[in-house]
Amino acid sequence: MMVNNSIFYKEAEKFISLGASFGWHERNAGNISLLLNDSETGSVKENFSNSGEWCALPYPVCPIGGRYIFTTASGSYFTDIDANCYSICEIDSKGENFRVVWGSDRPTSELNGHLMSLSALTERSDGFRAVYHCHPADLIALTYILDNDDKTFSELLWKSVTECAFVFPNGLGVVGFEVPGSIGLAEATAEKMRYRDAVVWSFHGLFSAGISVKDAFGRAHAIAKAAEIRLKIISSGAAQKNSITDRQLLLTAEAFGCELRGLEK
Ligand SMILES: [Zn+2]
Repeated sequence: MMVNNSIFYKEAEKFISLGASFGWHERNAGNISLLLNDSETGSVKENFSNSGEWCALPYPVCPIGGRYIFTTASGSYFTDIDANCYSICEIDSKGENFRVVWGSDRPTSELNGHLMSLSALTERSDGFRAVYHCHPADLIALTYILDNDDKTFSELLWKSVTECAFVFPNGLGVVGFEVPGSIGLAEATAEKMRYRDAVVWSFHGLFSAGISVKDAFGRAHAIAKAAEIRLKIISSGAAQKNSITDRQLLLTAEAFGCELRGLEK
């Protein structure tokens, strides 16, 4: 099967276009990655080329050694996405090198962040294997006015919309300023991805995880909506008379069979 006929390709294309329509992808902002499963790899492997050069990774990603990663290409404009804007990379068996086997020979500039996060996600039991990165304006604005820590962002956004409690029950990680595309950003993000559902990058954007691109995108959408509401509350200047309480958050989580990480009963 041609890669652009596969379900994972069509799903990525659909949600990239939707994210662009939300204004989350100015210029060449945004990138995605998906750790392909054996069935997805097998369905498109006939298109792979083994002639690409192996490139050393700055950090080993042993848990995803021997696996294939579908990702967007560096410099892609999500507002004008086409078949040249994707790559599939192979990770060698030791997790120390990668090579492009299909598509653009320049995978995303945040490749280290994606690979290290996908590697960290394999430690979890929820089947998360996709990462979606976007620039939602309201969430970025909140990083200028809230304390940039996991507890503040998790609790304030859980309390912005009732359903957030079960959309990201493991909460949000927050990573302070880091240079885009840097190892420092990749490392700090991957550490949070071991147990958080999404990571906020101060003054930059969001790295959201999920079982698929659709799931990671949906989580980003819920987080961006919660951020929009929280920013409206703060910007209104009015005294906040009402709020979702800790008890109500716990009741909601319990009803949907999840636990809120960091909020004890
Ligand atoms: Zn970005």
